[in-house]
Amino acid sequence: MECPFCGSESVVKRRVGRRVGGAIGTAAGAVAGGSAALSGGEAGAALGTVIGGPIGAFGGGLAGLVIGGLLGAVVGGRAGEDAGAVVDERVLDPFVCKDCGRTFRLPICK
Ligand SMILES: [Zn+2]
Repeated sequence: MECPFCGSESVVKRRVGRRVGGAIGTAAGAVAGGSAALSGGEAGAALGTVIGGPIGAFGGGLAGLVIGGLLGAVVGGRAGEDAGAVVDERVLDPFVCKDCGRTFRLPICK
């Protein structure tokens, strides 16, 4: 592939949207997963209370929250990356020339 401006072949694909999308998705997923896990954490806390009293309740709730948050972050990050990849392809200029620094996109063939 060549740069349409200077003809250089030092053209690389940008992954701006993918990176940003992944970061946003990870954060959103962690929050969503964490809040969903709050209810799961309550179940864990209730169970922990039966097994180990107040300490068990705390441990159960915390475990539910951490697990939910981590799972949400992973799932959200993946979804965000996918969304970001679409943005990369369709909205942003997906290629950048390392020689002249210009960004461009290929003509979309349909
Ligand atoms: Zn160039």
